[in-house]
This record gives sequence, C-alpha cells and structure tokens, in this order.
Amino acid sequence: MEPSCTKLNTSIPCAACKLLRRKCAEECPFSPYFSPHEPQKFAAVHKVFGASNVSKLLMEVPESQRADAANSLVYEANVRLRDPIYGCMGTISTLNQQVQSLQAELNATRAEILRYKYREATNSLIIASTGIGATVAVAELPQAPSTPTYPPRPPPPQDSFGVVIPSCSSPPSTHESVYATPSSGANFSVIPNNNIVPYFD
Ligand SMILES: [Zn+2]
Repeated sequence: MEPSCTKLNTSIPCAACKLLRRKCAEECPFSPYFSPHEPQKFAAVHKVFGASNVSKLLMEVPESQRADAANSLVYEANVRLRDPIYGCMGTISTLNQQVQSLQAELNATRAEILRYKYREATNSLIIASTGIGATVAVAELPQAPSTPTYPPRPPPPQDSFGVVIPSCSSPPSTHESVYATPSSGANFSVIPNNNIVPYFD
C-alpha cells in the first residue's frame, strides 16, 4: 500500500495529467475538478487558456469556489471554441437582444390589454347611460355634502398674459342622457322588426 496517494490518483490520473502525460500527484491542482471520465472539459480549457493559466486561475480562487471557477472556465472555453471571435460576449449580446425584443413585446401586449379594458369600460358606460342603469345612477348620485364648505380658493392669478383660467363647471351633456327616459316604449313601435340588429356582434 502506497502511503501518500489517494485512491483516485493511484488508479486513474485526472483528465489534465492524462492529457499532459504526467504523473497525477496527490496535490494535483486539477484532479478535484477535471475528472478522467470527462476528458473533453480539460481539453477545452487547455486549448483556450493553457494548462498553466488554468492552474494559476484556480489557485487564486478560494478553495470553496474552485469547482464553480473550473466549471465557469469550461463553459467559457466551450463558447470560445464555438464562437472564436466573440466568445461569451456573443452569447451575452444575443441574450440581451432577446431580452429587449421580449420587453418590447411585453409592452405592446400591455398596451393592447389597456386598450381592450378602456373599450370595455366605454361600452359599459354607454349601456348604463342609455338603459335602466341611468335611473340607478341618478338614484345613487351623492347628495350635497353635509360637511362644512371649504374656504373659497384664491382667484386664479391674472398676470401680464391676461389669461383667465375658467372655473370648474358641471360637466356638459350629462343632463340630456340622465333625464332621457327611453323605457316608455313609444319609440319602439316605429322600428320595424326585421331591422333589429344584435347589440353585440
Ligand atoms: Zn492530475
């Protein structure tokens, strides 16, 4: 039994030592991260970064983060081999473009939803002002407030421009629709039956 060799190192050298044709010692910096069962990982980092640079990079990182660092180097090397010019930057910019186009699509969809909601609200307002809902709306109108009136607002400033801001008046054209009583049924007699169109189509 050999005294200072781990089982893994005595049986099979790590992927790095196998590729570099050297003895895989117990303190081999690659053996924990480059399994002999995945030789393509070290082959990629060796091709792109060089074995000694990979070793230096791994030694600069705290031991608890070396596995993540090694995986990151493998990922980066594989992308660089696929895209020798842009490497990871190509992937990043592709993903950024995807994010931007999806954001634009999301904004368009949200605007469309708002349009639909606005149209729905307008339609229900029309129904309420022309149908039975009008009387309900009148009955539910709030009465004059019993709370003391607020002090009058100061008059609008009349500066050198001479522009007079009109005060708030009652909204126009509500009286006509509120006081219209279409439920008398007198008007319906003049409408021929064959001209009735469905309200919603
Ligand atoms: Zn090794």
